[in-house]
Amino acid sequence: MTATQTTYPGSFIAGAQHGNAGDPLEVVNPAEGRAFASVAAATEADVDAAVHAAASALPAWSDLAVSKRGEILGRAAHHVEEHIDELIPLLTREQGKTLRDSRIEITKAIDTLMHYVGLSKALRGAHTPNLDPGVEGYVLRRPLGVVGAIVPWNFPTTLLCNKLAPALVAGNTVVAKPAATTPLTTLRFAELLAEGGLPEGVFNVVTGRGSQAGEALVTHKDVRKIAFTGSTPVGEQIMALAARGTKRVTLELGGSDPMIICDDADLAAAASAASMGRFYNCGQACLAIKRVYVFDSVADEVIESIVEKAKRLKVGRGDVKGTQMGPMHTAGGREEMSAQVSRTLKSGGELRAGGGPPDDPDLADGFFYEPTVVVDPPHDAPMATEEVFGPALPIWRVGDLDEAIERANASPFGLGSSVWTRDLARAREAATRIEAGYTWINSRTKVYDELPFGGWKSSGYGKEHGEEAFDYYTETKSVVLGATVLTGATTKRRRASARSASSEARSV
Ligand code: NDP
Repeated sequence: MTATQTTYPGSFIAGAQHGNAGDPLEVVNPAEGRAFASVAAATEADVDAAVHAAASALPAWSDLAVSKRGEILGRAAHHVEEHIDELIPLLTREQGKTLRDSRIEITKAIDTLMHYVGLSKALRGAHTPNLDPGVEGYVLRRPLGVVGAIVPWNFPTTLLCNKLAPALVAGNTVVAKPAATTPLTTLRFAELLAEGGLPEGVFNVVTGRGSQAGEALVTHKDVRKIAFTGSTPVGEQIMALAARGTKRVTLELGGSDPMIICDDADLAAAASAASMGRFYNCGQACLAIKRVYVFDSVADEVIESIVEKAKRLKVGRGDVKGTQMGPMHTAGGREEMSAQVSRTLKSGGELRAGGGPPDDPDLADGFFYEPTVVVDPPHDAPMATEEVFGPALPIWRVGDLDEAIERANASPFGLGSSVWTRDLARAREAATRIEAGYTWINSRTKVYDELPFGGWKSSGYGKEHGEEAFDYYTETKSVVLGATVLTGATTKRRRASARSASSEARSV
């Protein structure tokens, strides 16, 4: 650790900073390749303290009316919004993304909180009046309890709030673990929510490595559910660990989203979408355009346009005005992606843009990589079969929609997808046949709070967003009101007792 680094005690538990007992973990600025802070890692005992705080806060929080929980969360979210200018540079510093993208991300995170605040006023349940003569039933929803939220580094605040908002409105309390490399924005976010009136213990944060703090959270006996976003291998591991104790899980995992560009598409719009959808956040997004399939007859024009856009993108530090794409988040991530591109090119395909770090000496210490385009690699090359988590885009020419859909589905992943065409029949056919949780038609990668989101196949299990998210943070119970309750005698007795109760009430 150097003298210029700021040291942080670690977690945020029961409304206050909590000094973790583990080793200090360095927080690196990806644009400089140097640590600027260190945060003590949570041990099993620190995680236990956080879960204990969440469990203690649970009865009072879950007893509040749902609209009251919404009101409290809404006020707290508003307080975060008032401090957004403090969070933006912090996110850019620890994550690497541009200041503009940090603002977009945190604004979206707050929007998601407010979306569920709105839903807290509109929640209604199911009632069935005539199950049998005189018998009626309704469905009761109860919170699960303490929820563990495990989040990666690429969108620390939005991916947190996708879990936090429905979990809290539904009456659960939460312990979150951000990625070890991006703890600072999450810690400050939690402090701001507490300053804004979120009661202590309702939302807690533990920092530290996934293999320690993360696993301690997953295996803690008092945690009822794990909401996880991250890679498919870790998601599978978490699902296996959660099996003990039949814990609930939602898993938002990796993706390799296909984009299909038909010959009748608005080609200029499609090329812009391919470039934005791949290079946004330096290509480090689960929902990014990771494979393009373009009809042969228009392929040259589309490829030329995407290549030109990739070459023109301004790569630089996220905190410098005019930068369009910042660095990758870690040196390891850059090495991994660089190796994927090299292995792919060894097996075939043409490198049309990028292919390595930029020449600019000012960027030599950061984890920068140029926007990269590879055309027509083999269909079994690493860039086709593996998730590419960085700014490198493979493009293939295809003969028709059938071939495009077949190629699109030849992937273990099924997160997002898009199709570009002016033909409604083609669009509907693609939307029906592509195996993915989202299909955008003439549009790309924007997730709406109103619509359920979640991957098929190896991209995950369960849904976030939409009213559907509540299904993953509650248990339902069917309650049957039997006929005997409604017999004349019982009703007369009840009326008599109600008359006496109301005369007593008037006399108070
Ligand atoms: P990881 O799976 O490595 O890490 C995600 C989180 O899990 C981190 O907080 C990590 O902690 C933690 N973790 C790691 N190991 C364990 C464990 N054994 N037990 C509990 N927690 C653990 O993902 P990446 O950091 O590589 O993130 C990128 C991946 O996330 C990509 O595959 C991407 O597609 C996916 N993703 C999916 C999204 C979706 O909504 N479907 C959205 C965004 C990303 P730590 O890092 O501190 O070790």
